[in-house]
Formats: sequence, C-alpha cells, structure tokens
Amino acid sequence: MESRESRAAADSGHEDMNTDTNQEETNEFCPGFKDVDAFVKYGLGAVISATKASAGLPQPGDEFDFYRSFPGFREFCEGQGDTLLHCMSQIMQYHGCRSHMRDRSKLSGLEERFDLVVDSNDVILERVGILLDEADGVNRSQQPVMPAGFQPPKIVVSSWNRKSSGSGSRSQMFKLMHAKNIARPQLKFKEKVDNSNTPFVPKIFIKPNAVKPLPSYFSNKQSRKERPEDLGVPSALADFIHQQRTLEPVEDMFSHPYQHELDHLTVTEELLSKAEPQMYKPIDETTCCFVDTLEDLVELNGKLCKVSEFAVDLEHHSYRSFLGLTCLMQISTRDEDFIIDTLELRSELYILNEVFTDPSVVKVFHGADSDMEWLQRDLGLYVVNMFDTHQASRALNLARHSLDHLLKHFCSVESDKRYQLADWRVRPLPEEMVQYARTDTHYLLYIYDRMRAQLLEFNYGQPGLLQSVWNKSRDVALKRYSKPIFTEESYLELLRKQKKSLNTQQLAAFKLLFAWRDKLARQEDESTGYVLPTHMLNKICEELPKEPQGIVACCNPVPPLVRQQVNELHLFVQEAREIPLQKAEVASQKSKGLTPIRKPEVTLFGPHDTSRASEGDFPHFAPHELPVKQGELFTEEEEEERRTDVDVDKAGGLLAPACITLFEVLDAEGDEGSHSVAQMKARRIIESFINPFRMYLPTTDVHINKSAKFDPSSKIYEISNRWKLQSIEQQQKELEAKRKAREAAKEHAKKAAEERKKAKLSYQESLKNVATVRQQAADLAKGDGGGKRERVTSEAGESTPKPSKKLKKSADKAQKTEEAAAETFKPFDYSQSDLNVFSAAKSKDNAQFDPNRQTHKSKKKRIAKGQMSNNGAGNRSMSYLAGKSDRGFRHNWPKR
Ligand code: AMP
Ligand code: MN
Ligand code: ZN
Repeated sequence: MESRESRAAADSGHEDMNTDTNQEETNEFCPGFKDVDAFVKYGLGAVISATKASAGLPQPGDEFDFYRSFPGFREFCEGQGDTLLHCMSQIMQYHGCRSHMRDRSKLSGLEERFDLVVDSNDVILERVGILLDEADGVNRSQQPVMPAGFQPPKIVVSSWNRKSSGSGSRSQMFKLMHAKNIARPQLKFKEKVDNSNTPFVPKIFIKPNAVKPLPSYFSNKQSRKERPEDLGVPSALADFIHQQRTLEPVEDMFSHPYQHELDHLTVTEELLSKAEPQMYKPIDETTCCFVDTLEDLVELNGKLCKVSEFAVDLEHHSYRSFLGLTCLMQISTRDEDFIIDTLELRSELYILNEVFTDPSVVKVFHGADSDMEWLQRDLGLYVVNMFDTHQASRALNLARHSLDHLLKHFCSVESDKRYQLADWRVRPLPEEMVQYARTDTHYLLYIYDRMRAQLLEFNYGQPGLLQSVWNKSRDVALKRYSKPIFTEESYLELLRKQKKSLNTQQLAAFKLLFAWRDKLARQEDESTGYVLPTHMLNKICEELPKEPQGIVACCNPVPPLVRQQVNELHLFVQEAREIPLQKAEVASQKSKGLTPIRKPEVTLFGPHDTSRASEGDFPHFAPHELPVKQGELFTEEEEEERRTDVDVDKAGGLLAPACITLFEVLDAEGDEGSHSVAQMKARRIIESFINPFRMYLPTTDVHINKSAKFDPSSKIYEISNRWKLQSIEQQQKELEAKRKAREAAKEHAKKAAEERKKAKLSYQESLKNVATVRQQAADLAKGDGGGKRERVTSEAGESTPKPSKKLKKSADKAQKTEEAAAETFKPFDYSQSDLNVFSAAKSKDNAQFDPNRQTHKSKKKRIAKGQMSNNGAGNRSMSYLAGKSDRGFRHNWPKR
C-alpha cells in the first residue's frame, strides 16, 4: 500500500510542488489531480484494487491457519496490518478523532477498533454533509453546534463550486444531491401513498397477456366497494368479518401476479441464436420525447407494441419519502428515446403492462433488481421477458458490471454518473438531467446485441450461457416488492448491523427512538434517514443527554423533525435513564435467533440512510401467520412493567399506527394524554387488528383509474373506448384464427398421442414376443426403458402434446398474415381482457392449466427441469399460444 502511495505521489510530482508552482496549484483541485473527477477516479480505483486484494487473501479457517503456520507469512501479515492501522490512525487524527488504533494496550480488541472506525466515519461523513450543504448554497443563519475537535469549514462556496473558467479543464458544475424547495410530488398523487404497517398488496387490477387469470380479489375490488359489513364497524373488524364470510384465499393477494407466466416463460430460438448487432443511432440524431400526458403515453404504448425489443430504466428518489418514489422512466427503442414523467403519470402507467408483460417483446434493463420493485410498488407494472445486461456482464465475467463500464467497453461512451443521485423529483427537468437519463437507455439495445453475441461466442456457439442469463433475468423479474414492516424486533436488526454494545439504558433509548423515527417517517412520508439519521440516533443513545439542548447538540445539522419534537425525544431519553443500569445488553444474542434474509445493500447512499430495515430483512411470514403484534414496542411483560413504572401518557408515542397525517385527518387520537390505561390497551388491540386484515378493505382510496374508466368525462374512458372500437374487429379475427390453430393443435395432438400409443403398444408387444437376452439385460441394467416409458405415458396421460415446430409455425403464420392485413396497429381492449378473453374462457379452453399445480413449488420444479432438456415444455408453449394477447406475435413459441 505504501509503495503505491509513494508511487502516486511521485507520479503527480507531489514532492516538487512548492511555491514556484503556485499558479498551477490554484488551478488544480488538489495536488496531482486536476479536478474532482480525476481525484475520485483515482480514489475509487485504489479502493477497488484494495478490495480485490483483500478478497484474494486466504480465508479464515483451514487455509488461513495453514498459511499462518509459516513464520514468513505471519510476519508479513503483521507488518501489513501495522501499516494499515497506521494509515487509519493518521486519517483519524487528521479529522480530530480518537485514533489509537495501533495502541494494543489501550484497546481490548477488534470490536473496539471497529467502533473507532465507525465513529470516525460518522465524523467524516458529517463533515462531507456540511461541505455539500455549503456548496449547495445553504445559508446557515445560525452557527451549528460542532462536535469537539471539529474545525468549522471556511466559507469556500464560491471557490470549488464555481464553474472553472480555465480553458483546458472541463467546465462542469457539481450537481448536488438534494435540491431545495421542491414541491412534494406526493401531494399531487391521485392515489394516496400507503405507508401503513401492512404488507404490500399488488396494485394490479387488469392483467394483460394473462395465461392464468388475475385472482378475484384484484378484479373484484370495484364491486366489493360497498360491503354490508362496512357500515358503522371499525374497518379492521369489517375486514375480518368479510374474510370470514367470503373465505377469500389470502395467498392470492401477495403472490406475484405474473408468477405463472414467468414460471412458464420459454426463450425463443431466435433469442438464443446468433444475430448481427445493430448499431445505435447517434444520440444527437435521435428524437427524444418527454411523455407527461396520458395521450402521449397511449401513443408510446402503441409504438412499443410494434417493436420486438426496447430498453428501460428508472430514476428514483428516496430521501423525502418513506417508501421511495419512482420519478422517471426512460425507454429507448432502436429509433427513439422517451423520458416518461412517472410522477405525473403514476396512476396511468399501468397501461404499459400491455407491452411490459408481452412475452414476444424483449425488455432490456441494466441491473433491474430495484427497478422491478419500484415498477410494482408505484406503477403496478410487471415485466415478462426481460434481459438484464448486468446479469450478462456477470456471466461474461467482465471486469466491472456497472452500466458506465459497459458503455465504455461496448460504445466507447464516457458516461458520467454524477446525476445518479440527483434529486429526480425536480420539474421541469434540467436539460443535463434529461441528457443523463437518456444515455442510461439509449445504448442499451446495442449492448444487449453485443452481449448476446459474446455469450454465444464464450460458449463456443452453444446457447447454454445465454440461456442462463435469460433465466437469471427472469428470476429478477420474479422479484416481489415488499414493504418495510415495523415489528418489535426491528431495532435489533439495526443494532446487530452496527455491532454496538449498549448498556440497558442506552438500549432502551435506542428502542424508543427507533420506534419514534419509524412512526414519524411513516406519518410524514419521509425516509427514516431524513427524520433522524442513524449516526445521530447512535450519538443520542450513547450520550443520553440530560437536557433537550443536549439532544440538539448530538445532531449536526439538526433534522427539522428533531428540532420540532425535541421535547418528546427528551422524554424518551429521560425514560431510558430511569432504567436500572446494567452492563452491555443481550441485544446481539437476542437477535441471533433471527436469521434474516438480507438483501444486498447499496452502501453508498449519499444523503439517504441505509439503516432502514425492509420487510425482506425479517423472517418471512406466510400470509396466514402474519404477525399480529406489529407496531408494538414492548413485550407483554415489559409493557406491564412500563405501565406500572412509567407515566402511561408518554406511551402514546410508542405505537406505530398506520396512518399518514400528511394526507389524512387523524381520528381524535392526537390527544394521547387523555387516554386511560384501558383506552390505550383497547387502542393497541384495535391497531393490532388492522394489519392482518386490512387488505380485505376496498381501500378508501380505490385506484382512481378504475372509477375513471367508467366516468365518461375522463380521458381514460375515451381512450379505452377508442381501443374497444378499434380492436373489436381485429380481436374477433384473431380469436377465430386462434380457435382454428387450437383445434388443429388438438387434432394433431390426438393423432400424435394415438400414434405414440400404438407405437408403444407395438413396441411392448415386440418386447414380449422377441425379448432377447440382450434386451432383457439392457433393460435391467439401465432401467432406462422404464424411464422412457414413463415419460411417454405421462405425456399421453395428460394428453398435452408437444406442439410440433411446424404446427406452431403455421399458427404463427396465420397470425402474421392477419397482422399484415390489419395495416394499422390496434391496441388490445383491456376492458374485456380480464373478463372473458383472458380469464374464464381462456382457462377453460386451456386444458393444460391446472391452478392446483401452481403453488410455490412450481418454481423449484422449474429449476430442476431447467437442466433436463426439453421435456414437458410442450404444454408451456401451448399455454402461451392459448393465452397470448390478441395482437399477433412475431416469434415462434419457445422450447427450452
Ligand atoms: P440507475 O439505474 O443507475 O439509473 O439508478 C437508478 C436509481 O437508483 C437512481 O435514480 C438512484 O435513486 C438509485 N441509485 C443508483 N445508484 C445508487 C447509489 N450508489 N446509491 C444510492 N442510490 C442509488
Ligand atoms: Mn437502472
Ligand atoms: Zn438510470
């Protein structure tokens, strides 16, 4: 490490930098680096190589122990370790932190060192935050409270944030992460944000391209609006009664609406075979359309229905919202770029499901894991047939898997990820941000082409590797969004992550503040990081300030909601201080019981706070065993204790009820002080009721479009009517063609089955008659004949023929000619889709579909089958044939 550093210093002429190079020095961002970019690039390079090197070290356990038995290795390790610690000490000293990393006598071990590092990181990041605010032009009217040893930064706003006028250097401004004074887009949402402590229920209510119909819960939402049990009964109770009355299956509400379609998705041969990469259009010769009206969106949908692939990306904001907001969607076809305002069209974007779930149109994403969740959560969109270039990059073992690396590698485009963390809520969108956004998708189809070609090349022309990327991408599309759920154990998760050891008082404070933060964040629709960043939460718990002012002093800058509620926070701290002091708590052991499924986490969360645990972090509950005691802070006994020890009035703040004050009027619960113990208890019980059954409620804020669709004055009504008229004729034609194809298929299948039966019989006959010794031996040894027979019988038994290639082609052809005949594009009529075309009629026709088989097991089955060649694929493709949207489709249906 040292050698690298000195080399860098020498390279940059660091040592020679003295007074006579003063002129140069002022032009340079810092010695040796001409601007921030250069510095960041170098820094990141160093970090990456260090991370790589550390990953290459012998692993603890056998390997390491073995190496350690060599004195040379041991000495080397110790030497390197000391150097590293020295380095860290110096950095800490520089920032005025405790820095005795190397002093073994003063530290008991790794844990304490780790704490030191965490503390120092806090200080450094805080300082970064302050500098960023300064650069942003935040005018601090009052002197902030500085931590001990902290030098207030000189006012440098105009120096490094100014566009450099130097001729040679790129004149670029740094875009900062949060813009000031942006109107909260939430206020304009037609459908209120639901931050309640309840599991996420998919937003979908119409399911285009369905093979398996949408569960009744979703399509019936409208008709359940006026239930008898809603009258004059608390909603939770009404839910419960409704559930009892109708016995609706709960699973349906939580499953992935396109699980079945994705499970049965097969990749066409065309997509697995070699194709010539198609060069992207130069970006300045490409039109870029900003879509923020329903009409433009419908037009875009029409265009997308006509292409065979397009690229998609999203931009997201997570700081000033509890669940996060999808702010922008970028789509690129081979010819055009589109930027869609997903804040403006939030309630309308579901119409894109027509193409997003169309298996004959490929959607190319890069690193779509989050995108899948955002699409579901905010827009009710799902993706069927997706290619994720991030998965491809992994399969190809490229040096790095980021989009900017792919852009550089395949397109020689230097992208600039500075805007990634920009505040994407801003409107109108500045030109630079539009440009940034479109580069995220503009080149992606070309990259997709190149990567497919390479994946084939890599595997000597065999499709295996490419297929695995399609499979991985499909698995990404299967991801379900899950809402962060607050449980009485949530705080343990965060505590465990931080590896803090707290005493009983600190722990109690942590628990209280954590719950306060979660509750407030939900209510005000802010991120927990905005309400109270974790490092400040830690600081307060560590110090347990005696005065409210002490709490303020722990926070720098003081978050607005902390300032506003500092007295309440102080009460929590006081309460914690009253608890008998004992040494470090059982927190870490307690939490060992939980083996949460952790999501891979982005740790570079700018102003965003990564501490928020999400639903996925907790043990997964099957819907019927949903925790009833959500939102409670204490266990029964603790609660009892509290009730006797502590002023009950204060406890009002400890519950995390499911409401947003921002949007809704609280029902007379504001005056917590006036509640008796019994009232509190009653309230808790009612609240605990709300969670598991809430989903039966036809939410008071029923999706706007559902009513809009029936409101003749609304645009969507007009459009959907237009679609209806345009598509009825085509639909009928296509239905006819399909029916014919299906009949042909049935006929063919029947014949094939009969023939197979005959062949089998005659084969068995022949075996019986002419069983030679050799055949018997072969049969016995391999048991192979048995296997084959079994397969044949199962095929015949289910009477689900594998559609021959020819047959599918002919069906395809029928549709193609039709497509050609219908000159202009005619979108599919949704208003009928969930009624007869897709659901009941289809599933009846479709003899293969058996809802009882579609349990969670199907996924495992699929994976296991994936390795076996193509048996059983037949019914899958048939399902699609039957269930395919009524627009013609361009590709052969698929074999695995
Ligand atoms: P991208 O797919 O790179 O355009 O990123 C989409 C969104 O993910 C951005 O708008 C950010 O909100 C978020 N994001 C991406 N990278 C990061 C990161 N390193 N830290 C925090 N958020 C990120
Ligand atoms: Mn993305
Ligand atoms: Zn992006």
